Amino acid sequence: MIAPPAIDSEPVRSLRQGRPLLWTRPAGADTNEASPFTLEDVRQARARFDRFAPLLTVLFPELHETAGAIESALLPVDGMRAALRLPESQGRLWIKADHDLPVAGSIKARGGVHEVLEFAEALALREGLIQAGDNYRVLAGPQARASFSRHQVAVGSTGNLGLAIGVIASALGFRTSVHMSADAKEWKKARLRARGVTVVEHAGDYEKAVAAGRARVQADPNGYFVDDERSSSLFLGYAAAALHLRDQLRDAAIAVDAAHPLFVYLPCGVGGAPGGIAFGLKEVLGPHVHCFFAEPTQSPCFLVRMMAGSGQLPGAGATPSVYDVGLSNRTEADGLAVPRASELAAGVMATRLDGVYTVADDVLFTDLARLHDSEGLRIEPSAAAGFSGPARLCATPAGQAYLASRGLAQAMRGATHLVWTTGGRFVPPEEFDRFLSRGRSSPADT
Ligand SMILES: *Cc1c(COP(=O)(O)O)cnc(C)c1O
Repeated sequence: MIAPPAIDSEPVRSLRQGRPLLWTRPAGADTNEASPFTLEDVRQARARFDRFAPLLTVLFPELHETAGAIESALLPVDGMRAALRLPESQGRLWIKADHDLPVAGSIKARGGVHEVLEFAEALALREGLIQAGDNYRVLAGPQARASFSRHQVAVGSTGNLGLAIGVIASALGFRTSVHMSADAKEWKKARLRARGVTVVEHAGDYEKAVAAGRARVQADPNGYFVDDERSSSLFLGYAAAALHLRDQLRDAAIAVDAAHPLFVYLPCGVGGAPGGIAFGLKEVLGPHVHCFFAEPTQSPCFLVRMMAGSGQLPGAGATPSVYDVGLSNRTEADGLAVPRASELAAGVMATRLDGVYTVADDVLFTDLARLHDSEGLRIEPSAAAGFSGPARLCATPAGQAYLASRGLAQAMRGATHLVWTTGGRFVPPEEFDRFLSRGRSSPADT
């Protein structure tokens, strides 16, 4: 049998050889197909965060100044634009500073916190601890805590999701266990143990840690498992970010229209965080927002899934993994070290995602150092994946073909490039210094 020619295409060769590439979704199927979610679901997730804000201020004194909101700044980074040598004629560079999100120190503060709040809310209503319309502050009281302590919340994670779930669930009084994959950093485990969270270490990868956690919790009648591969609540918690970003764009006088396209670059692991945010942004801001996911060259699970979905790789049917195309899933970007995409996220993104690109680990460190040296900001390696995006789009044949096919080549002077920096706030200083010296020692080309 002769292999279909598409399977030996240049993008597929680059993918298999672990070379950086930009893939864009074939034009034509542009309509946003029905998804299991609506804008109303996104609004409800936002409303849930608002209901819990008074309680969150009690549990986390760091949230006093934002009155309980877990949010991040929208920042112009012209120094970083210069460091990346992006010409002004291609638009302005901004970041969405989720690396500095309070409570969890990463983007997981959105989805992870939302899911635990949704579980706690349902439980509290069922057990009569609150009624609709109450001030949720009572949930910090002894009666609620006694009730929550009878329940277990568990999760499987490469680190950051575990950190977010562990912090919020233990703060509410739940028994909490986090199943960590081999990639998880020691300091993340230590931080959780210090809060009384049970950390279970697994020798295998992210998928194995999730499967082990899921199996363990199924045996506990009072157990609740946060399922990163399947969870709607996580997805909508991430999506809620779009509503706040819309307000921030308005306050910064950043237009999003045909003459002012918005390009958003989102580091991707299993796909829930970037998928939720991209879904929310397209619902809230409309067709002039273009969303690209960024993945490590050795862990491009979402790219593999998108290529299979569009017939460029075999694997329709079961979700293919990065191992199936001969890649190792080995990367310093621990937040992105995921071998197989979430089917929930892949399904929603199939007709919405604009593209995916891959980044070599060396470039992550180079960009981490550039951001520190130009703007004084501290991010973790995973969070640096977005910074390769603008040059991929503006200065590669694949990127220029995308811009031409969407009629955007003439609009770039008015463009906004928004890099989502997804984690870093709690990285210990010694660890950050190691990242920095690696990034400065052999600057890699983006
Ligand atoms: C989890 C994570 C992501 C990606 O989120 P997924 O839902 O796994 O796609 C990106 N950056 C950081 C720092 C993360 O921790």
